Order: sequence, then C-alpha cells, then structure tokens
Amino acid sequence: MAVFTIAKNVEDVCIHEKECCYTHEKDLRNLLFYGYNRSKKTVWSNLYNLGIESIYYQFLYLQKRRVKPLTTRALHYILSFDTQGYEWDIGYKKLVDIMEMIPVQCFREYQCIEFLHMDKSTHFHIHIIVNPVNIHTLHVCRETFITTGNTIADWLGTMYEIPIQGFAYRNSYGHIVRGRETGSFLYMDKFMKKYNIKQIV
Ligand SMILES: [Zn+2]
Repeated sequence: MAVFTIAKNVEDVCIHEKECCYTHEKDLRNLLFYGYNRSKKTVWSNLYNLGIESIYYQFLYLQKRRVKPLTTRALHYILSFDTQGYEWDIGYKKLVDIMEMIPVQCFREYQCIEFLHMDKSTHFHIHIIVNPVNIHTLHVCRETFITTGNTIADWLGTMYEIPIQGFAYRNSYGHIVRGRETGSFLYMDKFMKKYNIKQIV
C-alpha cells in the first residue's frame, strides 16, 4: 500500500516533524544531491532546470530574501508504494503522473523538486522536497505533514484508487474514504482480483 512519511535524513523515516530539520545550507545541499544522484526521474516546479547545483542556489535565494531565520531549509516527505505487493500494477508512467500532480495539488506557491527512486524493487518511492518559503510572500509554509497527507490521499484515492495508509482506506463498498482503517477492507478488491477470489454473496 502507499505510505506517506516525513523523512529525517536521507532514507530515515521520522515521526516528529520538528526533528526533521535541515538547519544548515550544507544539509540542504546534501539532501538535494543525495536525491538527485539516485533519481530515475526528476520533476521540478517553480524552479529553473539549470542543474542540481542551481536548484540549491534557487532555494537559498528565497531563503536569503526572507532574512528572518528558518527552522528548516527543506520540507522532505516520502511517498512510497508497495510495488511488489498491492501496487504491483503501478508503473513508471503512473509514478511520473503522480509526481507531476503533487506540486499542483499541494505546493502551488512553493519551489518543489521531486526525485523518483526505483532502486528498491519492493518500494518505488518519490522524495518530495519543498522550499518552505513562499515564492510570492516569503512567508513560511503553514501546511503540515497531516494536511499535506490528507490532500494527497484525497486525489490519489479519487484518480488512482490508491489508499494511503493512515490517511485513507477502502470501505466495504470499495470506495476510498478518509480515515485510519487498517483492516481487511484496505485493499479488498485488489486482493480478490489478485488471487482470483469470487465475491461471496
Ligand atoms: Zn530514496
């Protein structure tokens, strides 16, 4: 199933948002290079594609214009798919479509760069890295991990019928609804299709 998490450092996953800070310029630089070097596809929004070094300086440009200090120079989330399990049917093209939707749906007024990592065949995942400084107002992004997760879960459910664990699930009618259900219905229809189980009436 799809999992949406906050990333701490590189591949680590973090529970508390405040522990996931990229305080120094070099933290941001390392993060961008780490993501880029493994990327099978890179999608950027509100950024000029002049190479990853330039992306780093474009982030810093807004952060320096803001003047006031920042708790973090990057918001870093991971959207991961169970590519050998329930999302065995998600391919490169669908992943790229999802990557292109994320900035439009969630970070319209922010610089955002995404990297697709396919090195773990069981979990293809998208790194979402956002400059928290608004491109127009220079205010810091107020969207939290939870509000962002809910937004992604809403359209991922509607457009691709993929529930995100902890944010959405499939109810007994097969519809994707918001909530934290983790029981047997989470993927009922795909489970039945995969193992060719007929509906018991
Ligand atoms: Zn990765």
